Amino acid sequence: MKTKYDLVIVGGGPGGSMAAMHAAKNGISVCILEKTRDIGYPVRCGEAMGETAIGQFFQPKETWIAARINKCAIIAPNGTRLNIPFNKEKGYVLNRRIFDYDLSLMASSEGAEVYTKSYVTSIEKQQNSYNINFDYLGTPKIINAKIIIGADGVESRVGRWAGLRTQVKMKDMESCVQYSVGNITVDSNAMDMYVGHNYAPGGYLWVFPKGDGCANIGIGVSGKYSKQKSAKKYLDEFIDKNYPSATIHTTMCGGVPCSQPMKHPISNNIMLVGDAAHFVNPLTGGGIAGAMKSGMFAGQVAAEAIKKNDTTEKFLEKYITLCKKDFINRHNKIYKVKETIQKFTDEEMNQIADKITQIPADKITLGKVFATAVFKKPSMIIDVMKMFAGF
Ligand code: FAD
Repeated sequence: MKTKYDLVIVGGGPGGSMAAMHAAKNGISVCILEKTRDIGYPVRCGEAMGETAIGQFFQPKETWIAARINKCAIIAPNGTRLNIPFNKEKGYVLNRRIFDYDLSLMASSEGAEVYTKSYVTSIEKQQNSYNINFDYLGTPKIINAKIIIGADGVESRVGRWAGLRTQVKMKDMESCVQYSVGNITVDSNAMDMYVGHNYAPGGYLWVFPKGDGCANIGIGVSGKYSKQKSAKKYLDEFIDKNYPSATIHTTMCGGVPCSQPMKHPISNNIMLVGDAAHFVNPLTGGGIAGAMKSGMFAGQVAAEAIKKNDTTEKFLEKYITLCKKDFINRHNKIYKVKETIQKFTDEEMNQIADKITQIPADKITLGKVFATAVFKKPSMIIDVMKMFAGF
């Protein structure tokens, strides 16, 4: 381990590894500091990702894929099930334990150094760089870097230390609990999502299959409601009722920032990526793709900044411009759609579901479901159209 790097990345999730991969590929010295013992573990994710989303980076390896998804069902509050085949876009439920680990291996094969058991405790601004204080296997250490990328996830402290506005409104913070369960009967090619106040107020409950009678069953509840009844209580009741034979092999909790993307995730010598910058699809809570894309852009811009010897906030604006074009503008539109959908009462959702069941089964698409939903709220039509145009 050296004492100086061009770039230090805090966090070895998909955002951090992609940043490291692209920065190292472009010839600068890079190191990732990850606080846990193993990259990719513990998994705090439902692990679902679209085929196109992953395909824009890599041809997925077989070992990354736990299940291939070709349909989903949305279940309305009254239990009406809307089966939606995926005509073009297919999906995956990943093995993130293997996926995240492989991303870090790919970063190291480009020349990035990776250190686990490296818990970053503070950063100190220097003239034109930062000192990073961290605990490495129980020993305090300091590294100096010209740029820091904060890829430290939803609980990001790098942003706060750098004086950025990282707060998320309570109503936009989804409080999540997930069990990885076995011993259930589940279609291994179909995802189920339950909506409505009786299942998951302000969020949804998911059953994402992982093959061999296993699944990730989890729930996200808006912070606005989580005080009244905990996400765990909703989930336990659901499992008792619907999967009484389930055995629980992993339990995890976490937050997902389903807010608008951070407006200004940069400062002199600093960029935030992924969850740290709230780059999550605000409707679905999916953040793997946003983390990978922003990580990739941040790594590329960091390399350019080092080569041009300009690590100022002004230069790093390039990073925001790239993200805006790619997904930030779309996430902002999706946020508006989410806001409207969250205002629907259970009764309204049931009515929408009933309308959709009148569409012939082979004609139902995710687009039609949203189109029917917006029928209730015509002002949403433009936003929904823009949202689908961007998918
Ligand atoms: P992370 O993957 O969170 O990685 C951050 C890393 O930083 C961690 O490894 C952490 O240990 C490390 N770190 C933090 N602080 C420090 C420190 N001080 N020093 C050193 N290291 C540090 N997204 C999807 O696309 N599909 C899904 O199905 C899905 N389901 C989800 C279900 C749940 C319950 C939750 C909570 C999230 C889900 N997400 C899902 C979101 C997805 O997991 C995240 O968006 C994604 O992991 C973000 O990647 P990241 O690299 O930004 O951060």
